[in-house]
Amino acid sequence: MSDRSSVRDALAEARRRGADLLDARLMLARLLDSTRTQLIAHDEDLLAPEVGARWAVWLERRAAGEPLAYLLGEKEFHGLMLEVTPDVLVPRPETELLVDWALELSPTLGEAPRILDLGTGSGAIALAIKRARPRAQLTATDASRAALAVARRNADRHALDVEWIEVSWWQGLEARRFDLVVANPPYVREDDPALPALRHEPRSALASGHDGLEALRAIVAGIDRSLRAGGWLLLEHGFDQAEAVRALMAAAGLDDIELRRDLAGHPRATGARRPSGPR
Ligand code: GLN
Repeated sequence: MSDRSSVRDALAEARRRGADLLDARLMLARLLDSTRTQLIAHDEDLLAPEVGARWAVWLERRAAGEPLAYLLGEKEFHGLMLEVTPDVLVPRPETELLVDWALELSPTLGEAPRILDLGTGSGAIALAIKRARPRAQLTATDASRAALAVARRNADRHALDVEWIEVSWWQGLEARRFDLVVANPPYVREDDPALPALRHEPRSALASGHDGLEALRAIVAGIDRSLRAGGWLLLEHGFDQAEAVRALMAAAGLDDIELRRDLAGHPRATGARRPSGPR
């Protein structure tokens, strides 16, 4: 692309290269540090050469399948604008379901429930819960130091207080008890044909063994020690993993197992309660 193209040319070029118009406007607005509305009002303006050069790079990266959120450097989740980098999974709209479910349960769990988000990535789930329930005590873990650095910046950005711990699943948490445990762990099968399309995101946040259930199993395995009686476990999973997750939860002695579907109607999260009585 020449360094003399106008806003209109730049958007047309993006369309020719298969980019969605809204995505292209968001990208160009970001490069120009303006809003989408300003962009529409100034479509004859010429791009500065350095903007034109960066635009060409962004179109290339987008055409290669890089998520828009990595180019923009942010993604909105449950009303919070979050920084995202290739060190973290891009927060998905379907994961908001887990947050809504946690918010629904939290009033039943006491004044200041202890809530754990396992494998937090960008911090999305923990931060969204903390913002809506300021008195809750949030702990969030991730095995990736780079991911936790992003999560911490997101906490600073929104002035939200969450305890961040760099560990894999339950490692080091043996002595802790929580009222509610939530997780959107990796759950894609290692040979899933969808995985190559997700190659820009951290594989460790997506793939989980030959059946996609390794992380889900590890999480359920630690629940007996770490979830207080009467507390809840909420897990996101693949659309075809609901039965397997239900079976894991039942085998772990959890009760009141309930399945929820995402907006597309896919089975997406399963929750269960640890019985209060002696067992
Ligand atoms: N829902 C994601 C996807 O299929 C996977 C997220 C995950 O493994 N936790 O794109």
